Amino acid sequence: MSGSGNNPYLAHLPADQQKTGSSTDPFKSMVPRKTTADQAEALENGATNPFTGRTFTAKYQKILEGRRKLPVHAQRNEFLEMIHNNQFVVLVGETGSGKTTQIPQFMVYDELPHLKGKQIACTQPRRVAAMSVAQRVADEMDVKLGEEVGYNIRFEDNTSPKTFLKYMTDGMLLREAMSDPKLSRYSAIILDEAHERTLNTDILMGLLKEVCRKRRDLQVIVMSATLDAGKFQKYFNEAPLLTVPGRTYPVEIFYTPEPERDYLEAAIRTVLQVHVSEPEGDILVFLTGEEEIEQACRKIEAEGDVLIRSHDAGPLKVVPLYSTLPPHAQQRIFDAAPPPRKKGGRPGRKVVVSTNIAETSLTIDGIVYVIDPGFAKQKVYNPRIRVESLLVSPISKASAQQRAGRAGRTRPGKSFRLYTESAFNKELIEQTYPEILRSNLGSVVLQLKKLGIDDLVHFDFMDPPAPETLMRALELLNYLGALDDDGELTPLGDIMAAFPLDPQLCKMLIESPKYKCSNEILSIAALLSVPQIFMRPNEARKQADEAKAEFAHADGDHLTLLNAYHAYKLNEDDPKWCWNHFLNQRSLKSADNVRRQLRRTMENNDLDLISTSFEDRNYYSNIRRALAAGYFMQVAHLERSGHYLTVKDNQLVQLHPSSCLDHKPEWVLYNEFVLTTRNYIRICTEIKMDWLIDIAPHYFDLSNFPNCEARRKLERIFNRRNRVEDDNKAKKRRT
Ligand code: ADP
Ligand code: MG
Repeated sequence: MSGSGNNPYLAHLPADQQKTGSSTDPFKSMVPRKTTADQAEALENGATNPFTGRTFTAKYQKILEGRRKLPVHAQRNEFLEMIHNNQFVVLVGETGSGKTTQIPQFMVYDELPHLKGKQIACTQPRRVAAMSVAQRVADEMDVKLGEEVGYNIRFEDNTSPKTFLKYMTDGMLLREAMSDPKLSRYSAIILDEAHERTLNTDILMGLLKEVCRKRRDLQVIVMSATLDAGKFQKYFNEAPLLTVPGRTYPVEIFYTPEPERDYLEAAIRTVLQVHVSEPEGDILVFLTGEEEIEQACRKIEAEGDVLIRSHDAGPLKVVPLYSTLPPHAQQRIFDAAPPPRKKGGRPGRKVVVSTNIAETSLTIDGIVYVIDPGFAKQKVYNPRIRVESLLVSPISKASAQQRAGRAGRTRPGKSFRLYTESAFNKELIEQTYPEILRSNLGSVVLQLKKLGIDDLVHFDFMDPPAPETLMRALELLNYLGALDDDGELTPLGDIMAAFPLDPQLCKMLIESPKYKCSNEILSIAALLSVPQIFMRPNEARKQADEAKAEFAHADGDHLTLLNAYHAYKLNEDDPKWCWNHFLNQRSLKSADNVRRQLRRTMENNDLDLISTSFEDRNYYSNIRRALAAGYFMQVAHLERSGHYLTVKDNQLVQLHPSSCLDHKPEWVLYNEFVLTTRNYIRICTEIKMDWLIDIAPHYFDLSNFPNCEARRKLERIFNRRNRVEDDNKAKKRRT
């Protein structure tokens, strides 16, 4: 084991402690590894922080007291023994038992990764959880976030060379594996929330099994909230299981006698009912997405005010929670309920209105009432028509149980299910299907190829994806030129894999220098990777639409986004300007950040950064061509009937109402297929079929084109081209 000589952490310590092996070396008793809980706790109880050398703060001491009461704490020794004797360990525990915050710290005190120049990673399926938990653990360890403890999510790396404990999204770890296939910088990897079975976690599990065969020193801990532990144990070579019994209280379940027609309205009504009729305790409401949540928060606040006046109800604090919320706003879910308005008055209540995040990823103490309308936004993929969409769909029984459990963390609680008992029994599926069975696998296949995994059919998936879905992914990557006809990664595919984006976006970026507009395409790619920049608050729709119209470009939404971004850059320092123009400054700022990072990847791959002169009449059409170079497989044709059909898949679609296109171009390229009660295409730009034929002749080839109006148009274009060619030949012969 190396000493402390070149270890930046110990440099903070008093001189006598810095000497390797000195009697006061706080880590001495721990070398070599294999500590006991007592030894680790002695360090935690000490006066100075062994990682920074600073005296522990009072805040630290206070949090420590609470941590010692968490259920996982009682099993620290058992846990340590297990990891000392096994490469894989599966840990299952009730949400809130301390898995996410404590287990990585148990590992840190045991592994001392920084002394070996290593790190410990704890993966999270959700960005919000990674950020929020990292902040909490930094507080718990009495260090500054981004230093010893950090987080890494797409386009945001809050770590430093000092970091030895890193919370990261599962996707980011997968990405790291592409440049470091043995994940050599880690001594331990904790896969958290494994029960969520996200696409990236599933791939990581397969990958880690491989890596662990080659790296016996790598420790893997798989953590999960709900049961099904047997499946994980079996998958990880009969790994041992540690079960953390939760401290939970009974939760009474209520169903509605009749199905609710409008779950949003029913949810709001139930919040208010609970508030006036139930004893003290906070409320957690599950809804499906940002817009719905913001809307519900406004309504609850407004109607709550009325109640307070008419019923003398206590004050309400309504807090939203969803993944695109900035970190400081997320933290509000941990605030206490408001105090009574006057001494002796009715107690206040906190209402958290959240997406699925609050189901397992973040634990909010003090929740006594859960309101569960039974829906969540879920990804669905139909390989036949190549459409992946986020769809509001019924949750599973397992989810409903998990949601109810949130009410019984501090005392007995109640869960109000806004559906009937018979719907629960007969209509809800048992478990949510793993994401890998519901996703477009384009990105994943590209990543796996880049990781050197060629034989996808025999890759050790926990649940293998449908063959048709894999075929579709291979086909997409082949059309984009990322894979050759033998399924091998091409040099282009190799560069594509360097970008943390969908394959189409990667292709568009890489091709953009050819169309002399890589600067503009970079901006567009960034804008497509951040939350919506145009705001449209309910109470000011008309003004918002007028403001947006100022940026509108006749050729479509991509160029409208670009116009808005350029205007923002001219007025950058002015939040008021953004506000007045109904632009979301946070999104624009984050687009700026994303753009910077993508630009770096472009530069690293020797892709030129150029623009067409703005005076050149091809300025905009060059950009549209570059869009088509990435998105030629996402095009719709205007039929004589006045409807759009997607090209090749013949799905009936409409321009999304948010589109700025004020006419119906014959050919449009779209960024996204939105599946709701109708099929919409969102973010659309007019293009020309002639461009597509030049850009992707292999795709727009009549031999593999279904019979439809678009095909007949295509035939006409080909005929015209042939005629022109013949004429030219004839002319040549004559001269
Ligand atoms: P698990 O991963 O088992 O669901 P966590 O480790 O996330 O549990 O949380 C354990 C406990 O730590 C929570 O129940 C809560 O009491 C506390 N906690 C976690 N995050 C925060 C936070 N940001 N603020 C205050 N308390 C927190
Ligand atoms: Mg957790």
